[in-house]
Amino acid sequence: MGFQKREEAPIPARFGNFINGRWVDALGGRTFRSTNPADTRDVIGEFPASGADDLQLAIHTAHHAFPAWRALSGFARGEYLRKAADILESRVQEAAQAMVRENGKTIAEARGEALRGVTLLRFYASEAVRSVGEVVPSVNARTLIYTTRDPLGVVSIITPWNFPIAIPLWKIAPALVYGNTVVFKPASITPHCGFLVTQVFEQAGIPPGVLNFVTGSGGGFGQELVRNEKIHGVSFTGSNSVGRRIGQWAAERGVKFQLEMGGKNPVIVLPDCDLEQAIALTLRGAFSYAGQKCTATSRAIVLDSIYDSFSQQLVERARSLKIGPGSDESTFVPPVVSEDQKTSILAAIEKGKSEARLLCGGGTPQGDSLKHGYYIEPTIFADVKPDSSLAQEEIFGPVLVLMRARSLDDAVALANNVRFGLSASIFTRDINAIQEYAQRIEAGVVKVNSETAGVEPQVPFGGMKESSSHSREQGRAAMDFFTNIKTVYIDRAGQ
Ligand code: NDP
Repeated sequence: MGFQKREEAPIPARFGNFINGRWVDALGGRTFRSTNPADTRDVIGEFPASGADDLQLAIHTAHHAFPAWRALSGFARGEYLRKAADILESRVQEAAQAMVRENGKTIAEARGEALRGVTLLRFYASEAVRSVGEVVPSVNARTLIYTTRDPLGVVSIITPWNFPIAIPLWKIAPALVYGNTVVFKPASITPHCGFLVTQVFEQAGIPPGVLNFVTGSGGGFGQELVRNEKIHGVSFTGSNSVGRRIGQWAAERGVKFQLEMGGKNPVIVLPDCDLEQAIALTLRGAFSYAGQKCTATSRAIVLDSIYDSFSQQLVERARSLKIGPGSDESTFVPPVVSEDQKTSILAAIEKGKSEARLLCGGGTPQGDSLKHGYYIEPTIFADVKPDSSLAQEEIFGPVLVLMRARSLDDAVALANNVRFGLSASIFTRDINAIQEYAQRIEAGVVKVNSETAGVEPQVPFGGMKESSSHSREQGRAAMDFFTNIKTVYIDRAGQ
């Protein structure tokens, strides 16, 4: 008698929280799973579904580790970052593959992000020995006045899923190097990438309690990350709705906070541009990583005289972009990150269909190789009205809207007519137009003849208007957030 062999699903790998230098389960013993958005049958692992009690333990630990950590020289703290950089560099391929598997981005972008993580660690390791203050002449010739910097204490780092290695690193590295201890909570969609970041520091020998890692639902236990009395700073990247709440909780306690949130980033296309360049970089800005970057291009504002030729060529090229898993080197548009994201993007597209003319995409691509993933076609709408939801709301998916402008003036006014102000670009050769635009555009990252996405780690990053809480991350600006200025007056005894 024959029998049918049953396929056993492999047992998923089990990961822990990292608290006081040890990998531990959640106190309640519960777990959640992380899966691959290109093929949801692929389970990456099980992670602690932590509660407020786990966070309290992590915060307590970080609080105890703080005095010894802050007492080290900046150079000594920087050495841990240097070691972490070397370790991450030796694991770049593994980190890139982990990103592809967990958040779906293409392998080329993932490799770039992992390498950027290495650069960030090296940058902040060197920052450890740079000046932290200035000597300022006193009105009294015998008084010495100088400024120095104090760490904040224990800081919460709350991160999103779209750059699950670079964003944690550009927050954690400066937090640590300036003497803070850290509780790091990754997005629940990308806990494995958060685990890798933490493990790199563990392998670099970071002292117990200095960096703690806790996974679990932000909506469930997130308040503890802000309202716990031992927390003295919160750095958050994610949605406006969550960010605003975090800001309110932090303000109630008088705690320093930093929020980086959404965007509705425009490119302005002038008739004298290099058309090929404008099209290629608009496509890349809008559709690489399926538009899931806070700096992605979501509006193309095109001068009347080239609107038709620009949109025709853009649509032709968008239709031929390769949709597929991020692990395929030839993929341009990978899956979106989750079922929730897919549902909300498709809902925004449906609403858009009643507001404007759909030029291409607008649905789910067909094909055997795509049926287990969260794929959406690159979608372009034309003749979009300035106050429509398509022009105003952040969709965070592969959706681009085209708007007509009569003049540069009109284009800049349209570009500024949103509540966000993260990044922007213009395509032109006209230096006067560039100067005018650079002066008037309401964006924290201003590009010329380049993609709206893509920033360098040694310079400040952040948005205007509702895109941020108006501090800046990265570069030397990180020191402003992760430290307090102390002004020291020294007079001579007895005089
Ligand atoms: P969220 O803002 O919900 O999540 C960002 C981070 O905050 C995650 O770690 C999340 O944890 C955590 N979080 C959620 N709720 C709380 C809370 N009450 N207290 C403390 N932390 C909390 O973003 P989503 O991932 O849900 O994405 C939704 C939308 O946000 C996207 O469609 C996009 O518009 C925007 N977004 C913007 C990003 C950017 O780079 N500016 C990045 C990602 C998203 P958990 O994952 O457990 O919920």
